[in-house]
Amino acid sequence: MEKFLLVLEVITTCCAVTQSMTGQERSEEKSECVSLSPMMEAVPAPPESERVCVFGTGDLGRSLGLRLLQAGYGVVFGSRRPHSSSSLLPHGAQVLGHAAAAQSAHLIFIAVQREHYDFLVPLANQLKGKVLVDLSNNLKKNQYPEANAEYLQSLVPGAEVVKGFNTLSAWSLQNGPSDANRQVYICGESVEAKQAVIAVAIKLGFSALDRGFLSVARELEDFPLQLFPQWRLPLRIAIGLSAAFFFYLLIRDIIYAYVTQSKDISFRIMVSLANKVCPIVSLIMLSLCYLPGVLASFLQLYRGTKYRRFPDWLDRWMLCRKQLGLLALGFAFLHVLYTLIIPIRFDYKHASLSLFQIRENRTTQFDMTTAWRGDSYLSLGILGFGLYVLLGITSLPSVSNALSWREFSFIQSKLGHLTLLLCTAHTYLYGWNRFLSSSTYKWYTPPGYMLCLVLPSVVLLLKLLLITPCVDRTITRIRQGWERGADQRNPKDSQPLIP
Ligand code: NAP
Repeated sequence: MEKFLLVLEVITTCCAVTQSMTGQERSEEKSECVSLSPMMEAVPAPPESERVCVFGTGDLGRSLGLRLLQAGYGVVFGSRRPHSSSSLLPHGAQVLGHAAAAQSAHLIFIAVQREHYDFLVPLANQLKGKVLVDLSNNLKKNQYPEANAEYLQSLVPGAEVVKGFNTLSAWSLQNGPSDANRQVYICGESVEAKQAVIAVAIKLGFSALDRGFLSVARELEDFPLQLFPQWRLPLRIAIGLSAAFFFYLLIRDIIYAYVTQSKDISFRIMVSLANKVCPIVSLIMLSLCYLPGVLASFLQLYRGTKYRRFPDWLDRWMLCRKQLGLLALGFAFLHVLYTLIIPIRFDYKHASLSLFQIRENRTTQFDMTTAWRGDSYLSLGILGFGLYVLLGITSLPSVSNALSWREFSFIQSKLGHLTLLLCTAHTYLYGWNRFLSSSTYKWYTPPGYMLCLVLPSVVLLLKLLLITPCVDRTITRIRQGWERGADQRNPKDSQPLIP
């Protein structure tokens, strides 16, 4: 009896949808209504607020439909060919023609490519007052003069268009929020429409971020087309530095030996040369990570205020410090790996000190100074690398979110500068007394490690100046809002932070 009542309810709902159509639409749609639930398993159709419609039965439409069903929504697909597309759709969904499907729900997801949006124009009456969620993306930036969502709004002015869910892929929708990006961005003109979409997003297990009006849609459509935007500059710097130092050291170490001593040591390119390039690039990039902060402090000191914008180049530089630091850590890690394999190299075994002494029948005295230097050099390197790893770990969002602002800035700023100091000292110890030996300057050029010491030394020196009590006091006051000569200044003279 209960089952009979349920079936009756489903039929009544279907009839309610059909009753709201014109006679012609009804006769067209009657033969197109396909339910994907066997009648005996039928569940009561949810109210309209719990029913959503998905136009398009492609990859995204199907994945979204499945997630909506799993979250407890009733799903009605709108398709050009309801009969042929029904076999691929998730169990429990209903497929109708577009006009009938549009009438069954207030919220309609448009999972159709933008090029086909003109099919919506004849449906303008049925879509009046409905919330249309534009899921579309483009193949490249600025493919069309206006954003897809704005185009959709112009085609169906009577509907409320909301851009959203486009940053998720069909794959991530199928795998669920535990295994994918949990963030959904939305924008649109109507607050109620956006609230309806946010409610669905939250019920599906996503967190929704309202990015504002529909004019932001183009930005949301560009999201999926981004290719590591914040990594571009750091990657270019890393590649540029690696190439420059590789060729510099190739000339100084390998070609110099070949030209002046007719010695072929080209095999050193693979390990020795690589193990020189990696620490050099790592130290320079770590310095580049801390240099903009130091420059910004001096700029604030010079201007006597924090209420003026930094130049764009400095802003951009500061925004990619995390990526610079992570790449620096990557190079440091390679340096550690290369160093660890040194004892298993043929070259090392062949030229080891003990073998040399046996061959030459000579004994070298134990030198305490050299032992101290060697151990200090290694120890500083290990400590520096340990802190390097700590900096890398705390820059991960999941870790940094668990830290207070003070903890985070203590690690990233104080321990960061300490890391730079340890790694710089490690490199100075590597040079040791070779700085003063003329044989170090092959073809009058300094070795790579000397060149790479310039930047970190400058950064550390500037930082030392900044932490001297009198400078530190002024900088702290400026950061707390104090302005030099604020009393005498004409308010019109100050440059606004937001142009
Ligand atoms: P798709 O697999 O090509 O499916 C699109 C669906 O649109 C088709 O299955 C078809 O459904 C319908 N359609 C095709 N031509 C049509 C026409 N002339 N008129 C009306 N409907 C037509 O595309 P998709 O991958 O699902 O993507 C759909 C939209 O979501 C696109 O705008 C895409 O940019 C966006 N998107 C996709 C993903 C993803 O991971 N796939 C992620 C984010 C955003 P019927 O045959 O049932 O009518």
